[in-house]
Amino acid sequence: MFVKNLKYNLPDKDGFFGEFGGAFVPENFKQVLKRLDDEFEKAINDENFLKEVYDLLKDYSGRPTPLYFAKNLTNYYGKGKIYLKREDLNHTGAHKINNVIGQALLAKRMDAKKVIAETGAGQHGVASATAATLLGLECDVFMGEKDIIRQHLNVERMKLLGAKVHSVDTGTKTLADACDAAIDYWLRHSDEVFYILGSAVGPHPYPKMVRFFQSVIGNEIKHQCLEKEGRLPDYVLACIGGGSNAIGAFHAFMDSPEVKLIGLEAAGEGLDTDKTAASLAKGKKMILHGKRQYVLCDKDGNVGESYSISAGLDYPGCGPEHCYLHDTGRAQYEPITDDEAVQAFARLSKLEGIIPAIESAHAVAYLEKLMPETNKDEIIVVNLSGRGDKDTERLLQLLV
Ligand SMILES: *Cc1c(COP(=O)(O)O)cnc(C)c1O
Repeated sequence: MFVKNLKYNLPDKDGFFGEFGGAFVPENFKQVLKRLDDEFEKAINDENFLKEVYDLLKDYSGRPTPLYFAKNLTNYYGKGKIYLKREDLNHTGAHKINNVIGQALLAKRMDAKKVIAETGAGQHGVASATAATLLGLECDVFMGEKDIIRQHLNVERMKLLGAKVHSVDTGTKTLADACDAAIDYWLRHSDEVFYILGSAVGPHPYPKMVRFFQSVIGNEIKHQCLEKEGRLPDYVLACIGGGSNAIGAFHAFMDSPEVKLIGLEAAGEGLDTDKTAASLAKGKKMILHGKRQYVLCDKDGNVGESYSISAGLDYPGCGPEHCYLHDTGRAQYEPITDDEAVQAFARLSKLEGIIPAIESAHAVAYLEKLMPETNKDEIIVVNLSGRGDKDTERLLQLLV
């Protein structure tokens, strides 16, 4: 269920993937992160902890999620074999719960009474509120004012689940500002609060921890593909916000260079405009939220504003491991515009009866470019990170 013995062994002990990652935090905070890293390493070497995590993933969240052969989508392109990894079928509707269950159980193990979380689309907030309620922990969620409006339904869900939602009205009032607010709160209350980070970002050991808990996705893909096809897939596609669903889907294949890994970034209104969230295509190397990575900058070299139709991909940075995989060429990253994602959202709904999250639709959209290039027998797995109920009302207005 979780990968342990890969030859690929990054990050190093300081949390670096090549030149990316690390832990750029105030000196006194290094100890908090060190303790977290130590406790995490102990936990994942404890069979009882792993069993606790997997029992909840299985019976509470519904894992393993299916690897579904999308026959209609395959026929539409007339070649290859397209599979969808159905993370949308998880409890709470997205892959986020995989990571949250792991971190919430770690919080319990470390005797925290309260967890905090940042959220963009609201999916991570809902997942955190859910796990907190389940495990008897208090939960505060930080969310940008703009996202609170865009993702109204998820805000109501969090409240129903007993979480307190803090509206963040600084900066662009979106995910990056919610991250700042959550980090700031954590710095002031680190002795009693556990910060459940929602993506493969943040200072070391978060990217490593989030990858571990999400790696269940790729392990299942590997096992299910071997069972159904007798071999590994040729391509694994996933959308990239901070990069957690993608790194979870990719990790099991790090030692298998024949499996091509493709991450799809939100290009927003296009790479040639300022309204984009494609930090790998357009970013500069700098430090944001505790780690070195590619970040979108404005013309003065400060952290720029990101934009995407999808709240879950609307973040000016990108997880450090993706920056490394991008620079080394082990994974390929491509931009997808709002329009392309909206078309893919409608296409998948009509062809397969599956309404994807607008985030996941970015990965589906890349099939338009990939399929004309593939051979007829190639196997393509698209990680369907979440379901689209939260987006339907808003996107229908764009489609008419
Ligand atoms: C949050 C979210 C994403 C983006 O986050 P990653 O960490 O990049 O996976 C993608 N899809 C869905 C459905 C989400 O909720």
